[in-house]
Parts: sequence; structure tokens; C-alpha cells
Amino acid sequence: MSHSHDLIVIGAGSGGVAAARRAAAHGARVLVAESGRVGGTCVVRGCVPKKLMMYAASYAQSLAEAPGYGWVDVSGRFEMARWADAKAREIARLEGHYRKLLDDSGVELAAGHARLAGAGVVEVGGRVLRAGRVLVASGSAPARDAIPGLELAMTSDDVLELREVPASLLVIGGGYIAVEFASILAGLGAKVTLAYRDALLLRGFDQSLRERLSPALAARGVELACGVALQSLSRTAAGFELLRGDGSVLRAAAALNATGRRPNTAGMGLEEAGVRLDARGAIAVDVDSRSSADAVWAIGDVTNRVNLTPVAIAEGRAFADSEFGARRVRVDHRTVASAVFTDPPIGTVGLGEAAAARLGPVDVYESDFRPMRTAFTGSPARSYMKLVVDGLSGRVLGIHMIGADAPEIVQGLAVALSCGATKADFDRTLAVHPTAAEEFVLMREPARRHGAPTIASAGVAPPALT
Ligand code: NDP
Repeated sequence: MSHSHDLIVIGAGSGGVAAARRAAAHGARVLVAESGRVGGTCVVRGCVPKKLMMYAASYAQSLAEAPGYGWVDVSGRFEMARWADAKAREIARLEGHYRKLLDDSGVELAAGHARLAGAGVVEVGGRVLRAGRVLVASGSAPARDAIPGLELAMTSDDVLELREVPASLLVIGGGYIAVEFASILAGLGAKVTLAYRDALLLRGFDQSLRERLSPALAARGVELACGVALQSLSRTAAGFELLRGDGSVLRAAAALNATGRRPNTAGMGLEEAGVRLDARGAIAVDVDSRSSADAVWAIGDVTNRVNLTPVAIAEGRAFADSEFGARRVRVDHRTVASAVFTDPPIGTVGLGEAAAARLGPVDVYESDFRPMRTAFTGSPARSYMKLVVDGLSGRVLGIHMIGADAPEIVQGLAVALSCGATKADFDRTLAVHPTAAEEFVLMREPARRHGAPTIASAGVAPPALT
């Protein structure tokens, strides 16, 4: 039977839209199916509104600092409903922009829940469509089953729709979403308690960042309740109670469940169509994002590889270039920069100190200082930077920072890391003065050196050296 399209993309989030537009640019007839708003998690209920909320919170700090710079009569009160209305307008504008991008690219948009109904057959909005290839880019949604009662709590989707700052908030979890919203809501005036099972937040991040984040959040007023297992959440007349493994109970007017996300695979006919899911319910794919079913590929959070917007976009474009363009493109998932938008924020790329030290000799350079802007007003706030350097080749393996502007600084330095820059390259780069970023090119002596266990003992592949 003839195809109505060359490609059907399920999901109009960042990854799906990027793949659809790139395939159309290669001349493919493309349709995108979307059951919700165009733009997906990042634009509608994730990165973008979160960052707008972070900016709102950052004014509290600016107002507090202003008198130290000579400003008088500085005062203000945050009305969340005003922010919420402005945010809704901005998200609607961006959604319109995404729709226009698809339209201008010649991509057809079909509203409705899409379902695979055979090889290359997709049902959506009462239509049965046939395509040479299907790309699943359906994203993820908050998990709600880590502990009993968690379904009672808000998710990040709900927090981003708040029109009032809760008087007190219990944040459950210790990953990206937990620490970002704990920091933001504390900045907006909520009394925040962060409950996490491990002693240090952000598992998987460089230890020096983890050690510094907790006191920094505490200095911003977040009460940390870490290192105790979480047992159950229940609702009370006054709000919520979180029972912990040591018998203690944490209470707050509102609760946020930030215990991770699950791939959106339910009700899509995936397994019936031969698409294998892994143990966590994600679509299992190979290095080219190809699933176990003929003519079905998957990208982004639904594959649970590195769940970040730029990665989904890169995976989508690599798929489109490989299948509809003239060359095969693969995404390197080993060196992905990321940021955590706490106050202070984190920027990180490459190997952490411990991971690098398991692979071979490592020199660690670091700088820990009070940045000029806040030191001037007497604030004890500090910035911390670390370079993890291969002790044999001098190549920079990891760049890590917690402090003002860390995400912006690390994005720039990630280019150097991708290019294989060595510590000597950093040393001969002249400083931009006076900046915080210049510290990265002014580190002279290693703070410590790690010895040389064999690469095989680390049990992981060494980073590719070029
Ligand atoms: P994460 O996987 O980052 O964190 C989940 C947290 O929940 C972990 O701290 C985990 O603890 C904890 N947890 C899980 N189960 C339990 C349990 N039974 N009891 C107690 N704690 C539990 O998920 P998030 O929801 O924070 O974020 C989802 C994804 O969204 C991330 O993977 C990230 O890629 C992306 N994201 C990225 C952002 C950015 O780039 N700035 C911002 C927001 C989200 P433990 O560590 O002990 O397992």
C-alpha cells in the first residue's frame, strides 16, 4: 500500500520538531502527531517556564544586594499571579513560534494521541496513516510511585502552574528538579524543606559540587533533611506529612514530588508492533536510535539515554540526516554539558574527579573564591571551579563550576573540551579581566594529583583521545 508520508513523528517536543524539520529539509514528506501542546516538556512545562521562574526568584537576591551598592528605598513584593500570566503569554508565543517553524518547513501537524497499528501504520485523530519510517519522540512524565502517597503531591508540571507561593513546601527527591525548585521557591519566599535519602544531593555529579551545593542552598534558606530513607506521604488538614525511615515526620503546606521521570510509552501499541522496551520501560534503541521493530526509531526521553533537551534535538537531527540526508550522523553521549539552575547554579561537562581518577593519573586544579559582585556587599557566597586534567596527556577531561554564571561559563568552555584542549591551552589563553571566568585560565598548580591505577580496573571505556 502506498505511503501517505515518508516520516511520521510521534511527539512535537524539542526532539520531534527538530527531527521533523531536518527530515523535511532533506525533502521528506513529514507529519508530526501531538496530543498536547506543541513544544513539549521543555517549552511548555520544563526548561523554559522553570527558567522564567528562576529569573523571578533572582530579583529577591538583587533587591537584597542593592543597598550594599548604594541604592535606597529598595523594596518589593512578589505577586506570583502576575508572573504566571506573563509566563503563560510567553509560552503561548513560543508555542506559536514552534507551530510556525513546522508550517514554514512544510511539516503537517496532526492533533491527537498516536498509536502504532502495524509496520509503518499510525492511527491518529481518527486517521490511519502509512509512512516509510516512524520516529517515536513522546518524551517522559513524572514518576509517582517511589513511595506510597506520592501521587498526592504536586509534580513539576503543577509547580509551574502555581499562582501563589505556598507558605511552606516539602520537596521530595535530590535530583535536578528537586534542587532547582527548592532553590527557586525559597527565593520566592516559601519555607522549603528538601527531603532526600542520600547525604549529598545530585548523585552522579562531581563530589566537590555536591559537597558545596548543600551549604549554599542552606544559606539561601532551604532546610535540608538528607541522609534518611523516605517512607510515605500523607495528606493532613494542614497540608502534607512525610514519614521517614527513622520515624521522623516532616510537615509542610504543599509537597513536590521530584523523584524522577518515566518514558511515555503507554497506550501507543509499541510492544504489539514489536518495539522492545527495556527494564525501565524506555524504548531500547541502538546507536542510530533504531528500535527492535522494522522502520521504527526513537529519540529523546522516551529512550532514557541522556534526558536533556539538546541531546534529544541532536538525536533527532542525527536520525533525519542519516535516514533522509547524504551522511550517517551519530550522537556522542559521553561528553554532554549540563547545568543545574539552583542559586548558585552549577555548570558541568566531562568527567568528574573520581571517575577520571579511576581511568588513570589525574591532576586536579581548583579555585574557590568570593566573587566580586557579592563580596562587595559583604556576602559570604563563594564560587568554586575545578579542572580535571589527564596526568599523562595534559588533556582537560572535566570542567565543573558552582557559582554565579556557571552555566554560561561552562557552555563556552565545553567547546574547548570538545576540541580536546589541554591544560597548556588554558594556560596560554589570556584572561578577560575582571571576570569570574578568568579563574579557569589562571590556575597554576594542581590542588592534588591522583595516581595511576590501570584503565581496565575502572571497568569503563576510557575517553577517546584525539
Ligand atoms: P532525577 O533522576 O535527576 O532525580 C530523581 C531523584 O529522586 C533522585 O534524587 C533520586 O534519588 C530520588 N528518588 C528516586 N526514587 C526515590 C525513592 N524511592 N526514595 C527517595 N528518593 C528517590 O530526576 P528529576 O525528576 O530531578 O529530573 C528528571 C530528568 O529531567 C533528569 O534526568 C534531567 O535529565 C532532566 N532535567 C534536567 C534539568 C536541567 O538540565 N537543568 C532540569 C530538570 C530536569 P537517588 O539519587 O538516590 O536515586
